[in-house]
Amino acid sequence: MPANPRNVWPVAIAGGGIGGLACALALARHGFQSLVLEQAAEFGEAGVGLQMAPNALSVLDALGVGEAAKTHALLIERLLMLDAVTGVEVVNIPLGERFQQRFGNPYAVAHRADIHGALLDGCRASPLIELRNGCRVTEFATSGNGVAVTMASGERIEAAALVGADGVHSSIRRRIVGDGDPPPAGAVIYRATIAAADMPKNLQQPHPTFWAGPGWHVIYYPMRDWSTFNLGCTVVTSQTPPIDGEEVSPHYVLPLFAGSCAAPLRVLRIPKQFKRYVIRHREPVENWTQGPVTLLGDAAHPMVQYIAQGAAMALEDAICLGNNVAECGGDFAKAFQRYQDIRTVRTARVQISSLMMDRINHAKGLERKVRNSLFEGRTAEEFYDRLAWLYTPPPYVK
Ligand SMILES: Cc1cc2nc3c(=O)[nH]c(=O)nc-3n(C[C@H](O)[C@H](O)[C@H](O)COP(=O)(O)OP(=O)(O)OC[C@H]3O[C@@H](n4cnc5c(N)ncnc54)[C@H](O)[C@@H]3O)c2cc1C
Repeated sequence: MPANPRNVWPVAIAGGGIGGLACALALARHGFQSLVLEQAAEFGEAGVGLQMAPNALSVLDALGVGEAAKTHALLIERLLMLDAVTGVEVVNIPLGERFQQRFGNPYAVAHRADIHGALLDGCRASPLIELRNGCRVTEFATSGNGVAVTMASGERIEAAALVGADGVHSSIRRRIVGDGDPPPAGAVIYRATIAAADMPKNLQQPHPTFWAGPGWHVIYYPMRDWSTFNLGCTVVTSQTPPIDGEEVSPHYVLPLFAGSCAAPLRVLRIPKQFKRYVIRHREPVENWTQGPVTLLGDAAHPMVQYIAQGAAMALEDAICLGNNVAECGGDFAKAFQRYQDIRTVRTARVQISSLMMDRINHAKGLERKVRNSLFEGRTAEEFYDRLAWLYTPPPYVK
């Protein structure tokens, strides 16, 4: 490999999802070039929803795309959990002014494409970022000067460093951590979107509605200026359907929610089709960096979606990585090690906490009653105190 003047070779980023694009922006704001290599034919996101907690919105603000990201997002009034058997309210966390003052941002729900689109527009506007689609990274080799990145087409690119932001099935992780595919977490999700015109008026609420059932949960919320609703129905199961994204008919899905009270069933009966995905999880690791190659987002710390923080963690990773590259003056191996050291405890805590919510969200029998009693009488401030570790942006998010 020839010598690398750092400002000639870019940082290669495998994956142009929320994490990869945020990483490119985080590097650009410190003057570092990057090349985002996305395997898909187009940069884009699936047409489903995303909750954006204040810590995630603070990263988008810091990257200069916060306003754009919030344009079509809905700033929600509360987080609500209802017992799906009785319809009784279990958790009600108001997200008004006191919440926003405490955490520096509101809580939003959005269409994924709108959050991804705001990041993409930011990247397109930066002269330091090159975006290439149809490029699947298959291999890399490090040398004293940088990293040679090989694509499925056989093309080889010289880069100063490589960030694997290539998601839950990361091929870069396979090389660095070597722990195979992420195992199923013991649940599948049935997803659908519902046009506002099809959603009964009295079920159109300005917040996510979360019904916790015995062995399952259902969540729905409005997106895109109330034009569409995102519906996610998770079922605990030991079965692992072989194909992700397979279409499944309501005749199959509806009986899975037996024992539900009326309201969730009214929503579940609306979609004509659902798409089914296996939920995956990994135990946290702390070796996701190897010299000038590191991982970010789901590639580093995939988690179940039960506290809606996977994309938020990818965004925080990006800011932390960019700051460390700048502070280490472009010594990527040193910067990536520091980035990993800073991020591992927080991301591991979020991975573990997400998994622990399985027991709360899907409690049955007596445990369900215990779950309901846990939150009785809890004030807004008490909820905020318990959530402060999560929703307060880390100090490096600025
Ligand atoms: C049901 C569900 C609901 C969720 N809800 C929320 C939520 O409300 N809030 C939240 O914060 N998080 C949520 N998450 C988590 C969130 O979706 C992920 O954590 C987030 O998308 C991770 O972003 P990423 O960029 O790391 O990975 P991805 O979004 O998976 O992006 C990876 C990108 O890399 C590309 N790629 C893969 N392999 C290669 C390769 N070899 N070469 C080049 N490109 C490659 C892919 O095509 C993709 O574009 C949810 C997850 C699930 C499953």
